[in-house]
This record gives sequence, structure tokens and C-alpha cells, in this order.
Amino acid sequence: MIPFNKPPYVGTEPEYMMKAISNRKICGDGEFTKKCNTWIEEKTGTSKALLTTSCTQALEMAALLTDIEPGDEVIMPSFTFVSTANAFVMRGARIVFVDIRPDTQNIDEKLIENAITDKTKAIVPVHYAGVGCEMDTILEIGRKHGIRVVEDAAQGVMSTYKGRGLGSLGDFGCYSFHETKNYSMGEGGAILIRNEADIERAEIVREKGTDRSRFLRGQVDKYTWVDCGSSYLPSDINAAYLWAQLEEADKINQDRLASWNMYYERLKPLEEKGILQLPYIPAECEHNAHMFYIKTGSLEERTALTAYLKDAGVGSAFHYVPLHSAPAGERFGVMAGEDRYTTNTYERLLRLPMYYGLTEEEIEKACNRIMEFYK
Ligand SMILES: *Cc1c(COP(=O)(O)O)cnc(C)c1O
Repeated sequence: MIPFNKPPYVGTEPEYMMKAISNRKICGDGEFTKKCNTWIEEKTGTSKALLTTSCTQALEMAALLTDIEPGDEVIMPSFTFVSTANAFVMRGARIVFVDIRPDTQNIDEKLIENAITDKTKAIVPVHYAGVGCEMDTILEIGRKHGIRVVEDAAQGVMSTYKGRGLGSLGDFGCYSFHETKNYSMGEGGAILIRNEADIERAEIVREKGTDRSRFLRGQVDKYTWVDCGSSYLPSDINAAYLWAQLEEADKINQDRLASWNMYYERLKPLEEKGILQLPYIPAECEHNAHMFYIKTGSLEERTALTAYLKDAGVGSAFHYVPLHSAPAGERFGVMAGEDRYTTNTYERLLRLPMYYGLTEEEIEKACNRIMEFYK
């Protein structure tokens, strides 16, 4: 059996978790949370990073921090995870979905301006498979129209666009450390804050709407309720688990990239014959091998290939039911313009096994099975 995913594990997690416990500081913002925050700041160059309990909650924080109000519109791709939309829907926003590019499966930056109205409050690019969106164009659109940009960089830890870390480019960036992601703490995430001016409010929103962070730094002599907010801090035990993996991030990244490259080389002949489409990485982007996917010819073909792989014990997966055609998507959003590639990609895309520690033999087996299918 080759599973589709295995949660990353490097070996030092239990030791660090015990350390967190012996620190007698297992609530939020202990030793390991601070280590993880600093790591993200140094890696990406963002002004501030704060661990959260999930990427979903980092997105919810971003929706609060961009002051989304009922009736505001938020632009995003339809080809994404539900949390990208839900975070803004919960503040009363109407979601305006834009089609994706058929090469990177990222939001088509050329279609964004057409979707802007006087109600547009935010643009949310999603870096699919950890490959950066065309950020210079998107940031320029945001600047020109005075609209904030929130990056859903759930899949983009360790990836860059023009040398800059994904998640650090927009006003806010959101990471996921869920167990299906490259670096994990079980359930967890982080919010990245680019502008100094937004940091204090982010700390307040994350601390139940109180100025507790200022209090802990000795900047005020008591803490109190100053804004709306919630509890978005993870336990330091979870952060300790993550810290073990961030310390080994280069090793994990190299391992995943080696697997990704091997898939690419093995399957290239099928792309050259026009049978499959393989992932495309723009020259500006360094990716993190979050996933290896192929695009088959049709839904029928993908269904047959999935079963054929399963018979040989090879796991695979597909996603995302386009949000604009999901029941909640129809209620809370609308597709701006044509759906040329979103549904088509959902029907044809297949994700192959990808995890830290995937062996060459396993990749060989998966690729041979695919070759056999197309013979
Ligand atoms: C995984 C993922 C999320 C949600 O992450 P959680 O940490 O599980 O909340 C959001 N957006 C995208 C694009 C994702 O891949």
C-alpha cells in the first residue's frame, strides 16, 4: 500500500513536547510558539508572524483585520478549500469567484479587475500546490483600487515568489500546519502581518479582543477588553511539535522536491505525447513540492485511472468541488465571468502520493502503474 499522505514526523517531536510540559507553560505564546513565530519572520521577511490554531482561523483573523462588513465583496478563486470563503462569509461578505489559469490552477490575475466593484474590500489569492500566484500584478491591482490583499498561503510554507516568501507579500498571509501540509502540528496555522500598523490590532484580535500582549510586555499595567476578537492561540505543546519540523525544514523540503522531480521526469514522456498535463512552475516561483498532480484528459479517464491505481494499492486524491457550484457557494457567492477552467480542472486533476519520506521505489511503482494504464 502506498498511502496518498503520511503526516510528517522527524523524531524530536516528543522531546520538545516534554520540554514544553516541563516549562509549566503549555498555554499559548510559550517558548516554542515564540521560536516558531521568529522562524517564520526570519524565513519570509514578514514584519510579524503569530501562530494560530489553524489556517482557517488565520483567515478569520484576516477577515476581522480587513474590517469586512455585511455587503462587502471579496474576490477569490472558486477552485479552493471552503475555509478561504467561509472566513469572509462569516463577516457577512459576498464572495465573487474568479476563474483560474489552466497552467498553475491559480486565480487568473488578468480577470481580477473585471470583478472589482465599489463594494470590493479584499482580494484573496490562493497559492495552489505551493506555487505562487502572479503577485506583482495582484498587489498592483490592490494598490490601484485601495483594496487589501490576503494571501491564502496554506500550502505555501517554504515557497517563494521573486525570492520573497509566500504569505509575506500581501497585507496578511495565512499558513496551515494541519497534518496534511508539509509541516505540521496536527491542527494549526499562522497569520503573517506585513504592515507594522496592523500588528498591534492583530495581537488584540488573537487575544480575545484584549491588550494582553501589551500587558505581558509591560507596556500597560493591566489588560482589558479593547476590541472584538477571539481565542486564536494554540497550546505550546502543539507548537513544540511544529518546532521539531521547522528545525528540519530544509531537509523535509529537499526530500519532497526530490520526490516531485522524480515524478516529473518519469511522467514527462506522457506529457510530451499529449496524454497528460504536468504541473507548471513559473520562472518567478520556487515551490515546496506540496503536491504532485496530473491533469488527465477527462472525468471518465480520471475515474478509471483512480480505480486502476487503487487496485495496485496506490492512493490518490482529487479536489476541490468548485465553490461557486456548491450549495453554500450558490447562497453566499457568485462567479464573475466565465467558468472556463475551474470545473474542468476539478474533473481532470488527480493528486499522487506525496509526503516526507516517500521512497523512490514507491514513486517508481506509482509511475509504472500510470504508464501501464495509458498503454
Ligand atoms: C489546508 C487549507 C486550508 C485550511 O487549513 P486548516 O489549517 O486546516 O484550517 C485553507 N486553504 C487552503 C488552500 C488549504 O489547502
